[in-house]
Amino acid sequence: MLTTVPVNLKLIDEYREFVGEDEIKEILSLAKQLKGAKVLHINATAYGGGVAELLYTQVPLMRSVGLSVDWKVIQGSSEFFSVTKIMHNILQGMEIPTTAEMKYIYKHYNKLNAQLLTGKYDFVVVHDPQPLAIPYFLDSHRYFGKHWIWRCHLDLTKVSRSLWHYLSQFLSKYDAAIFTMLEYTNNFSEQLPPVYIITPAIDPLSSKNIPLNDHIIEQTLKRYHIDPNRPLVTQVSRFDPWKDPIGVIDAYRLAKKSIPEIQLLLAASMATDDPESWHYYEKAARHAGEDKDIFLLTNMQGVGNTEINAFQRVSRIVLQKSLQEGFGLTVAEAMWKNQPVIGGKVGGITLQIEDGKTGYLVDSVDECAEKIIYLYSHPKQAEEMGALAKERVVRLFLSTTNLKEYLKLFLSLQK
Ligand code: UDP
Repeated sequence: MLTTVPVNLKLIDEYREFVGEDEIKEILSLAKQLKGAKVLHINATAYGGGVAELLYTQVPLMRSVGLSVDWKVIQGSSEFFSVTKIMHNILQGMEIPTTAEMKYIYKHYNKLNAQLLTGKYDFVVVHDPQPLAIPYFLDSHRYFGKHWIWRCHLDLTKVSRSLWHYLSQFLSKYDAAIFTMLEYTNNFSEQLPPVYIITPAIDPLSSKNIPLNDHIIEQTLKRYHIDPNRPLVTQVSRFDPWKDPIGVIDAYRLAKKSIPEIQLLLAASMATDDPESWHYYEKAARHAGEDKDIFLLTNMQGVGNTEINAFQRVSRIVLQKSLQEGFGLTVAEAMWKNQPVIGGKVGGITLQIEDGKTGYLVDSVDECAEKIIYLYSHPKQAEEMGALAKERVVRLFLSTTNLKEYLKLFLSLQK
């Protein structure tokens, strides 16, 4: 059996205050046509990273509108997750050869997970490349799931041809593929099933995004020995080369020459499907050296949703200096908290931040440092940009929109 992930109850009615009556009515009318449909989400980890974050909201929200939804996490050894992390890096543009051994391990665990699956579903949504090959190894994938959907959360514009050629053979079992931006499919659209574009979204009612009182925020800073009276620059991200923690430290160092009082926080959760994270954590720690104003915190020190919420709210500056990014939920999370985020000018970050209006898009360490100094020294402008950032999230990036798009997709496949 694959691990079933338990999720909290959520009620669609509670989202009315954010998105209005008409939106909720539209969702309920779409859902009515799918009442009782059985949906299965399959992914690689129950915590750490954006996919798990999305599913903790989407699964209960789909249930709340009348669908019967399961979420299962695949099983794999450390060698499997090392292989899938290498594949993830190749898919994002790193030049590493894909060996026969890697392909063997990848297939072996997908086959094993296929054998462990039980049940019968109307829609099976497979997230990201780790479990992509599962339907390929099911005796009758149509019996298990009537409609198969691959939800790719990555930006594949720099994908290596040979790895893509290998993985795309498994796509023949799918009826649809979801990407965050159409551009991500530019290099191989002919090998894909029909493509749907759905943007990820954040949950205004999750403990990560609800309002927090000042006391909780203060206590959180105190617990981690961060000085509440000095400005904090924060990036919330897994320790991963694509999130550029080293570049963030360099940008902070440059900015510190002009603002000596700033502190830097890198907060990360260590996902089970990301075996590289400790390696990159150590690299970042070495790079930070003896600087007592740099804080590296992880879920191992009790940094959970409430702590991330507090850090995103209290920070004077929020960064997401990614070098490649499918979407970057952390950007929308901070924008929701009235923060004009300084983000890398890549992938899904460009969907969220309008450069100079709701934050800044940067290409380099120098530019990042320059924007830190600018926002710090223009608090009034930062506040105005933060208000616009929040408006943008309300309009485009809340979970109900994500739910609506999934329902539309299910309906179009059903027809
Ligand atoms: N996150 C968290 N704790 C951390 C670091 C990250 O809960 O210490 C969450 C973060 O708030 C966001 C998700 O993990 O919801 C990361 O998603 P994103 O799309 O930004 O990046 P991914 O990890 O999927 O590449």
